Amino acid sequence: MLHHEYSKNAYRIYLEGGGEMGQLTRSYDWSKTVLGTPDKWSRNLLTTLSIIFHSKLPMFLWWGNDLIQFYNDAYRPSLGNEGKHPKALGQRGEDCWPEIWPTIKPLIDQVMAGGESTWNEDQLMPIFRNNKLEEVYWTSGYSRVIDVDGKIGGVLVTCSETTTRIKQNQVINQNLKDLAEREWRLNSLITEAPVGIGLLKTRDLIIETANNKVLEFWGKTASVIGERLATALPELEGQPFLQILDDVYTSGVAYYSNEISGVLEHNGTLKKYYFDLLYQPIKSANGETESILVLATDITEQVKARQVIEESSLEFRQMADSIIQMVWVTDANGMHEYYNKRWYDFTGSDFASSKGEGWDQMFHPDDRENAWKKWNHALETGNPYEVEYRLKNYAGEYIWVLGRAAPFYNSEGELIKWFGTCTDINEQKLLQEQKDDFISIASHELKTPVTTLKASVQLLNRLVEDPSPKVKYLIDWSNKTIDKVEKLIEDLLNASKFNHGQLHLNKTYFTLGELIEECSEHIGLEGKHTISITGNELLKIYADRDRIGQVITNFIGNAIKYAPGSQEIHIEFETLENALQVSVIDRGLGIEADKIPYLFERYYRADSSGSQYSGLGLGLYICAEIIKKHEGKIGVESEVGEGSRFWFILPITG
Ligand code: ADP
Repeated sequence: MLHHEYSKNAYRIYLEGGGEMGQLTRSYDWSKTVLGTPDKWSRNLLTTLSIIFHSKLPMFLWWGNDLIQFYNDAYRPSLGNEGKHPKALGQRGEDCWPEIWPTIKPLIDQVMAGGESTWNEDQLMPIFRNNKLEEVYWTSGYSRVIDVDGKIGGVLVTCSETTTRIKQNQVINQNLKDLAEREWRLNSLITEAPVGIGLLKTRDLIIETANNKVLEFWGKTASVIGERLATALPELEGQPFLQILDDVYTSGVAYYSNEISGVLEHNGTLKKYYFDLLYQPIKSANGETESILVLATDITEQVKARQVIEESSLEFRQMADSIIQMVWVTDANGMHEYYNKRWYDFTGSDFASSKGEGWDQMFHPDDRENAWKKWNHALETGNPYEVEYRLKNYAGEYIWVLGRAAPFYNSEGELIKWFGTCTDINEQKLLQEQKDDFISIASHELKTPVTTLKASVQLLNRLVEDPSPKVKYLIDWSNKTIDKVEKLIEDLLNASKFNHGQLHLNKTYFTLGELIEECSEHIGLEGKHTISITGNELLKIYADRDRIGQVITNFIGNAIKYAPGSQEIHIEFETLENALQVSVIDRGLGIEADKIPYLFERYYRADSSGSQYSGLGLGLYICAEIIKKHEGKIGVESEVGEGSRFWFILPITG
């Protein structure tokens, strides 16, 4: 009896302790389960439970055919707060774990059937806890528990939940994957970079990295990686690169060149390159060079383009130096950028003193103002410029030059430069001066005998009473010829006078209409021509009466001379705003358009054969000088075969 009592209560020893789960197990109403009350439990079950309750390792037991469940305090947290605990105790496995039963049932079956114990690390088993289905990772082993009859009575699960570690690992792995992506991107950036990037390791210059661009420069594939640079590119021998790299390696000082040429072999042919090149030593923690980073940018195209420009600029300079003229170039603002050799030889000056205002010292003081005026006008308007002036040479002598400049436009149509020349015209100028001097002297010398001759003929005319028609004709003819000679001498005298700046005006008020009338009468028409005059008869002007008369007479004289077939010469005078205009219109030969710009120059005659009409080409030059002196304007409109309209405009002053 006592023995029975003892054995009846003996189970209690096995179920002692065990914390919360021990307590729950003891108080559980086992009578409703297939296992019955604990006093009926086999000793093996009790022994196992005792081990489970006292273990600090999470443990779980399925017992019997229904797989009734037990678990300890260490396991309990894995069931979460709201969920399976405490219902799981005494529950059938199938009822407790519907969500993972298909996964774990085969493992349980395997062990129950006497198979191998199982071991699963970090297995994902989503279970319902904390009111939701959670992703839970387990490392667990399922092992058999033998019952008293020697058969397998249950399955003991020793396990630990690894969810936290796995989640941490996942975060770490995720980060690593970031990192890896970044490295991959960096690598592809280097590989695809438009500049050549390479890394040479050790003093042997082993090619460790070579991106696509470097391989392209080298004319090689990635198979050269791992080789020595000198072996991979034998053509480097005799070129400076290997020595420079060695210097960088041993000195630890970077090398940079912004234009270095190198020859590299491509499929058997040598190709010349120009590079911007950097050799950067990469040092270890203790400061020793470990490798050299190579950065190379191909600038071959730019260098070649520049060489073409340099060559054409050199050609220009050589050509400019080989000609007799002085040549210069300025920017759009007229600042000098270039002079040819002839300029420096002629002036004996250097570039600094030839710039801009420096010219001031080189112009003859009398020509300075006019030269600057014309040049500034050209700069303002963009019109070509032409002016004669005296330029001081290296010996301090003033030499006559013809200065010309033309604007240069770029492809966008912007004026970017001026090209100019100075041509030595000193000799022509001196010859001209000699000629002018001769003319001046000769015309003076001729004037007196011709005046005497004229007086004699007039005397003769008076002395001969009742002359025969032949004698009368001869005397008339002599008179006319002497008039012509007088006019020629007069022109010559005037021209040389004006040339020496000796045109002085003697201004008075006079009636313009009267003067025109006088000039028309004085001209001595031969009956062929009639002169009509229109204008305000009362119009008065303030000018040199004789000189203006000279201009009108000249216009009328020319109209008669160059319009022999036409009958009428028309003279118009009218007031304009602050000016008045006088025009002499004929219906004569007219003048070709390309000759008009030169009509008012000295000695210019439109019909240069000159045989038909007498004249020296001085009349219009004299007219122009007179009108210029009056600050007026002179000009002509003419059409060949239609006639001409010569005009001058005088400002109304005083
Ligand atoms: P010249 O008459 O002495 O030759 P000018 O200086 O007076 O010199 O005239 C210059 C040139 O202009 C002349 O040679 C002539 O060819 C041309 N010319 C001047 N006036 C006329 C005109 N009315 N009609 C046609 N040609 C003219």
